[in-house]
Amino acid sequence: MFNIKDNLKAIFDSIAEEEIKSNRKLGSVVLCAVSKTKPYEMISEVVSGQQRVFNIGENYVQEIEKKFKDIKRDYTLRMIGHLQCNKVNKVVPLVDTIDSVDSLKLLDKINECSIKNGKVTRILIELNTAFDGEKTGFMSEDEALQAIEDIEQKKGVCLSGFMTMGELGGSEVQLRRSFGKLREFAEKVKIEHPDLNPDVLSMGMSSDWRYAVREGSTMVRIGSAIFGARTQ
Ligand SMILES: *Cc1c(COP(=O)(O)O)cnc(C)c1O
Repeated sequence: MFNIKDNLKAIFDSIAEEEIKSNRKLGSVVLCAVSKTKPYEMISEVVSGQQRVFNIGENYVQEIEKKFKDIKRDYTLRMIGHLQCNKVNKVVPLVDTIDSVDSLKLLDKINECSIKNGKVTRILIELNTAFDGEKTGFMSEDEALQAIEDIEQKKGVCLSGFMTMGELGGSEVQLRRSFGKLREFAEKVKIEHPDLNPDVLSMGMSSDWRYAVREGSTMVRIGSAIFGARTQ
């Protein structure tokens, strides 16, 4: 029978197993439960109880408004979906982090809006490591590096790390190459900007998170393996 708590326990157990196998420290990989299209009751289940989740990921601004508007939270709400500039004003007041920053213009908008709202928004720079035109994320490392330099001048945003998506249906070799690219990029940034402390490497979804952990992921974004398949 389908049971969210059982699914969650199975995921936590497998993450621990994979950490050991990959010579990673136990607890070094954090779970972000991706609840897009699923009702708030399901989120309540994963943010409560003994084995609880501290990061919830959502993709759509309208859905975030609907589900989280008057909710008091003790977990981190992350915007992980592609974000259009004209929706920034709506989403900034509602979320704790924006993980899908993929253009200089979007970064500017988030910064301005955060300042207006009197907050500092944590962000992840999303890199298109598969260099796949269909996907979101900065298409060039140079532009992503420019974004990081911009962040240092901005008061409304702070760099918390990096995100990428593996190729849909990619082979182990392809996926690990993409995930490895993000890790290398993060290492480069740490050397060039020792003053910044971006410690999140968000990579890996239900189908490919094990490869991501082997390549150094510190945050896996898992939806369907916890909440079941999506119908929309
Ligand atoms: C939907 C989504 C996920 C989770 O996908 P699953 O395959 O259901 O685990 C992770 N990251 C992003 C950006 C997503 O849009």
